[in-house]
Formats: sequence, structure tokens, C-alpha cells
Amino acid sequence: MTRHYSALSLVKEGLKGQKGWAPAWTSPQPKPRYDMVIVGGGGHGLATAYYLAKTHGITNVAVIEKGWLGGGNTGRNTTVVRSNYFFPESVRLYDMALKLYEGLSRELNYNIMLSQRGMISLAHTPAEMEMAARVVNAMQINGTDAELFGPGDVKRVLPVYNFGPKARYPALGGVWQGRSGTARHDAVAWGYARAASALGVDILQQCEVQEFLIEGGRCRGVKTSRGEIRADRVGLAVAGHSSQMAAKAGFRLPVTSYALQACVSEPVKPILDTVVLSPGAGTYASQSDKGEMVVGGGLDRIPSYGQRGNLPVLETVISGLVEMFPSFRQLKLMRQWAGIVDVAPDSSPIIGESPLPGLFLNCGWGTGGFKAIPAGGTLLAHLLATGQHHDISRPFDLDRFARGRLIDEAAGSGIAH
Ligand SMILES: Cc1cc2nc3c(=O)[nH]c(=O)nc-3n(C[C@H](O)[C@H](O)[C@H](O)COP(=O)(O)OP(=O)(O)OC[C@H]3O[C@@H](n4cnc5c(N)ncnc54)[C@H](O)[C@@H]3O)c2cc1C
Repeated sequence: MTRHYSALSLVKEGLKGQKGWAPAWTSPQPKPRYDMVIVGGGGHGLATAYYLAKTHGITNVAVIEKGWLGGGNTGRNTTVVRSNYFFPESVRLYDMALKLYEGLSRELNYNIMLSQRGMISLAHTPAEMEMAARVVNAMQINGTDAELFGPGDVKRVLPVYNFGPKARYPALGGVWQGRSGTARHDAVAWGYARAASALGVDILQQCEVQEFLIEGGRCRGVKTSRGEIRADRVGLAVAGHSSQMAAKAGFRLPVTSYALQACVSEPVKPILDTVVLSPGAGTYASQSDKGEMVVGGGLDRIPSYGQRGNLPVLETVISGLVEMFPSFRQLKLMRQWAGIVDVAPDSSPIIGESPLPGLFLNCGWGTGGFKAIPAGGTLLAHLLATGQHHDISRPFDLDRFARGRLIDEAAGSGIAH
């Protein structure tokens, strides 16, 4: 149940060392059996549990997390939300997510700090401008909002950009999506966790899934570091560790795991009030509510499970940023980190039943799955509850690799996380 605190009770709690505060979600002992088990307590796993309970009335559900909630990519990303993709299937998926994000603070009664400040994907050459026009046309035909910006528009939204005659990355214009922006990543995980727990979902942290229980050719549950847990259906939402878990279930996934890194600067006064992305420079940035510049770029190109990130990629990202925004040279970097992302050959997610009956997949989000969390949760919950695809998840089934129906969003998701 959600508790409400008055201003006076907040002060009292502060003075008492916050001993009277109820935890946002409960931490029960694992039961031997649930109707559904979700492996992975990131945004997608928690959202799946929430929609199973809320939309389908299935509350005998456990989310099993080996570490802490949001400790994977959900708490490591750069918080960009957008739906500016190229193909109709992707626009339907990411627009579903963005619409759900627009109502999520109210839905969860938890402020996810959605800030639809707009995003500009810059074009630096005439060829990139032509591509930008093509992307805008595709997005408009697919029914999502997009505008083709010229140099004057860029000046308006990015006044501190380097418009000098010798600029290495002249801004000729770009693709603008006004509904894009950022949302507080931890809040998304915590909001879903609290709401799911209030509906009866068990959230089991520090509980690692080590194996799958396979009987009669079907997944019947999981073996964990806290004992065996049986379930009618199991959902897998473990992002960068999907292929390792698939190997335990006896099949191979067409995904490769890479480190993707990001960094933040010291906090400064407001100076950048949009999300800016330059595919050409290999950099994107936004300013957080605290004032930090949140900066990211491309993948470390070597498959890896090392959550560190390498220096050459960081150098490319930062040099691109300071070429575009010379005044940012004065900023001190405070922190740098990486997460392990699972990339499919067409840079689109995989949602569907796995080759092991009873085990269902939500993976392959690669560099861009934070923005998709409400849709990923809705769609996996639908699949688990009904055994059938939702119309929107159908094209993202694993069978697309056998049928050759790839949804190649490499350009859309390139570095535009
Ligand atoms: C640096 C960086 C920047 C990014 N920026 C953006 C962005 O701006 N916008 C965007 O849309 N996306 C972005 N992404 C991608 C996005 O963060 C991910 O696609 C998304 O968070 C995936 O969510 P998830 O719930 O599937 O995975 P995760 O949040 O990684 O959750 C998976 C969980 O599974 C757990 N787990 C793994 N194995 C086991 C096991 N055996 N047993 C139990 N639990 C297990 C992990 O501990 C983890 O908590 C970024 C990613 C990174 C790394």
C-alpha cells in the first residue's frame, strides 16, 4: 500500500533517523511455486510483473534479481526517451512506450521526472541533411512527430553550439522530435517495483537464477541461489546476460554483448535544455536536473562482459562534444561507467517464446531499451498471460531471423540511445 507523508511527519522522520518509514516494496522469502517468474529486476522485468498484475490480474508472480533493482542497464543509462525510428514496426513499439511514459508518473503515483524537452539529431553535411529529410518523412508517414530543422532552428535550440566558420561539425540542421526527452531511470525501476509489490508481486533481490528446471522438454521453473522455484511460465529480461542464460536453457540467441559507456560532468547552471545527438561526431548529451552534463556515445566495439568501458571510445565521445560545444572544455568529468548491452544483428529487440517452451524472451534492446520499458513490460506480460503475441510484438519474434524479416534499425539506434 502506498503511504503518504505530511511535511511535518517528514521532518519528524528525519529527526528520528527515518525509522518509521515503510519500505517502498516488501522483501519476502521466495515461495516454492509461482504462476509466473520473471528473471531480471531491471525496468523490463519489473514492468512485466506490474502489467501482469495490473492488466491481467495475475499476482502470484516473482521478479528474481541477482543484485539490486535497477543495478543493471536500467540504472546505468543516459535516460533518453524518444520514438524517432525508421520502420513502422519500430515506431509503433517505441511510440507505445512514449505514450505510456507520458502517463506513467500518474499511473504509478511516482514521479519519474519525465522531461519532454525535445531532441535534435544533427546533420553536419549535405548528405546527412538528405538522410535527415528521409527520416523525417518516414517518421511522419508512420504517424509520429518529427520536424526537419534548418540551421536557424538549430541556433534557436542550441545557442551555445559552435557555429564558427571553422567548426569541425557545422550544423546544417537535423531531425527534431519535440516529444523526446529524458526520464529519471531509477524512478522508473522503483516506481514499477513499488506498484507491483503493492499488487502482490514478490520482489526477490540477491537471488541469482543459476539454471532452468526443464522437464518433459518444457521450462518448469528456475534453480536459484535461494532454492528451486517452480512456475507455469518464465520470462527472461536480463539484457546483456541474455545469451549466457539462453545457453543454460539449451539454445543460442542472435545477440552479442558489448560494454556501452557514459559519463557525467560536475553540475553547472542550466545551459542545455534539449537532448542533442550527433551521429557524425559519435556523441550525445543532455543536462540533468542536477545540472550535470550526461554524455554518451557508441559501443565499445569488442564483445565483453566487463562493466568498465575503454578509454579510446571515451576520447572520441568527449572530443566530439567539445568540438560542438567549445565552452564545455571547462567542465570536469565526475564519473564514468558502463553497462552490458545485448545487440541483435538488426538492432531491434526480441520479444517472444524461446525455443524452450514455457520460457519467454524480452531482450536485444541493445543501446536503446530504457525508452521502451513500459512497452516491453506490457508486451511480455501480454505474451506470458495469453500465450499469444500482441500485434505490436509480433514482428519482433525470434522467428524473424529464420524468416529473413529483419527490422534493421541500425541507423535509428546507432548511437541515439
Ligand atoms: C551507458 C548506457 C546508456 C544508455 N542510454 C540509454 C538511453 O539514453 N535511452 C535508452 O532508451 N536506453 C539506453 N540504454 C539502454 C538501456 O539502459 C537498456 O536497454 C535497458 O535498461 C534494458 O533494461 P532491462 O530491464 O532489459 O535490463 P537491465 O536493467 O540490465 O536489467 C536486467 C537485470 O537482470 C539481472 N540479471 C542478470 N542475470 C541474472 C540472473 N542470472 N539471475 C537474476 N538476475 C539476473 C541483472 O542484474 C539486471 O539487474 C543505455 C545503456 C547503457 C549501458
